[in-house]
Amino acid sequence: MPSPTFAELGVSQAALRALDQRGITAPFAIQSLVIPDVLAGRDVLAKSPTGSGKTLAFGVPIADRIEATDPRPSALILAPTRELATQIVEAIRDVAHARALSVTAVYGGAGIEKQARQAPKSHILVATPGRLEDLIQRGAVRLDRVRLLVLDEADRMLDMGFRPVVERIVKQTRRDRQTLLFSATLDGEVGRLAAAYTRDPRTHEHVPAPEALGKVAHRFVRLAHDDKLDALVRELRDDARGRTLVFVRTKRGADRLVKRLDRHNLHALAMHGDKSQNQRERALGRFDRGDIDTLVATDVAARGIDVDDITHVVNFDAPEDREGYVHRVGRTARAGRTGTGVTFVMDDQARDMGKIAVELELLREFTSAGFATPTASSHSNGNGRSGGQGRSGGPGRSGGQRRRHPRSRPAARA
Ligand code: ADP
Ligand code: MG
Repeated sequence: MPSPTFAELGVSQAALRALDQRGITAPFAIQSLVIPDVLAGRDVLAKSPTGSGKTLAFGVPIADRIEATDPRPSALILAPTRELATQIVEAIRDVAHARALSVTAVYGGAGIEKQARQAPKSHILVATPGRLEDLIQRGAVRLDRVRLLVLDEADRMLDMGFRPVVERIVKQTRRDRQTLLFSATLDGEVGRLAAAYTRDPRTHEHVPAPEALGKVAHRFVRLAHDDKLDALVRELRDDARGRTLVFVRTKRGADRLVKRLDRHNLHALAMHGDKSQNQRERALGRFDRGDIDTLVATDVAARGIDVDDITHVVNFDAPEDREGYVHRVGRTARAGRTGTGVTFVMDDQARDMGKIAVELELLREFTSAGFATPTASSHSNGNGRSGGQGRSGGPGRSGGQRRRHPRSRPAARA
């Protein structure tokens, strides 16, 4: 199965066609993360780099959530600059028109009369804060029917001193509105703004994968718990394999796995925090010399392993998060070589792993293993830092940031 299509994310036929006509056929990562939540009516906080496609991440689902018969304006997009406001209109005009919606930008430095006429006729209003406030004060436009609010480049709006005016504007929108906030950072003041304006938001963060991971062949294997050992044995018997690092979650798991491999006549060494410095150095020495070509390690122990020519990394136990995946699989394909990263995934881990796959742009590899494309039902709370602004909430929200390990055991980590 290929990476998700806009249709699979829930985008309407009309919007699909409009996108298609502009050659936009496959969603970018941040769009895959954000669109299902916006369509589901959720508040969203999103962070991703410039050029990653944030405009359509909010523009497309917003156009889909408004009907031509709805009040005008029903949606307000605040942006810090005139350039940005006009770019947003350019980007979303076709999709809006395909849904029979009008969209206008209002900004300073241009005649106010025409904007004053157009603003109240637009379903979607894109505005810089200062000019919008002028229009409101003139009585040209009211925001009391606005039920979709986007703060684009929220960090820049704050940097530019727009907080008081943004505050005054937001107060005039509907209290039960849906709010989306896009920013290069969600920390500090932006985080406080986000907390004040959103309800039970979903946090999405897309950080592009590090360059080096592109040289790795990534593979996911869908399996049941009881099949993991056999699957590992198969991987280790692969002739194409050189030095291999196998990752497990616990020290006990590492020792046990080494014993079980032994019974299959596959000789590995365990590396974990309970080994003495001496034992670790001896194990590494044997790995380095090539006496043993398989190390079974916990995340912590693996930090001390600095070997260049590891051809395979096997995640026997799935990594906890994106960082974990990058650290582990980043151990192969060093120094210009290629490498293979294999990750065992049980069905009850598919949701978390799917999220990691989306974040690392490995969705194709993930779905090739027979997993469905992650959708709104999956938790996508970025890297777990961004949403933690100390807000409290019910179950199923930022609590998803706490790592879930279906098979977690009390055993201490290495
Ligand atoms: P950001 O707001 O994250 O900086 P933009 O929304 O301005 O990024 O998008 C950057 C560029 O990527 C734009 O030229 C846009 O047309 C293009 N783009 C956005 N989404 C897609 C997509 N799914 N497929 C192809 N191009 C896209
Ligand atoms: Mg943008």
